[in-house]
Amino acid sequence: MRRKLAAGNWKMNGTTANLAEIEALAAAHPAPRCDVLICPPATLVAQMAWKAGKGPVAVGGQDCHPEVSGAHTGDVSAAMLADAGARYVIVGHSERRADHGETDALVRAKAEAAHAAGLVAIVCVGETETQRDAGETLDVIGAQLEGSVPAGATSANTVIAYEPVWAIGTGRTPTLDQIAEVHDFLRAGLAKRFADAGDMRLLYGGSVKPSNASEIFATSNVDGALVGGASLKAADFGAIVAALDAS
Ligand code: PEP
Repeated sequence: MRRKLAAGNWKMNGTTANLAEIEALAAAHPAPRCDVLICPPATLVAQMAWKAGKGPVAVGGQDCHPEVSGAHTGDVSAAMLADAGARYVIVGHSERRADHGETDALVRAKAEAAHAAGLVAIVCVGETETQRDAGETLDVIGAQLEGSVPAGATSANTVIAYEPVWAIGTGRTPTLDQIAEVHDFLRAGLAKRFADAGDMRLLYGGSVKPSNASEIFATSNVDGALVGGASLKAADFGAIVAALDAS
């Protein structure tokens, strides 16, 4: 049985005032059946991890540098995130790939750094709208999977998130058949490389909200969600956690 995961990505949102959301989330869902994760901006990781304590909400980073330390102004290493109390880190989010020109090779190096630091890497893949319209979705995702997921990936240290770029922050989502097609393809692709591919968790991300979470969670090979906008408020994210628990 794969343990489901509801992961929130706060992106570049949140200051100390927003730490109350994690307390509200933990209070409303003290013992979820699924794993619950919030990835705040790097500035909040340590404080959020301290507030989360041994409660139901884990804390993660949104990105990491592939090296442990060094002359990389403005960057944060996986080891630093772990030291701050993070247990997960997102790598290869489409906003990082687009805004910072991150390649599959760099994303793979970041995932390796996450593993070396004892973090679970959430590796993001997903097609643009142009690629989908051109019928290239599975080719694009297959190449990203091959290039971004390191050879040392296991079900314990790696989660894959399918995030169609055109669905992120737009309110648009693929059809359930389209989600199932990609998630089944991901499972089969992972099985060619990893002995425990059947245990790896596959998240869907892109405009997940309380009103569409249940149907998405009932879709083939969907083991949870990576949630942006709807993770900022405890009430909305809590409703998604509840939907995942009920799935
Ligand atoms: C994301 O940024 O990973 C994401 C899925 O955003 P949203 O839920 O806002 O579409």
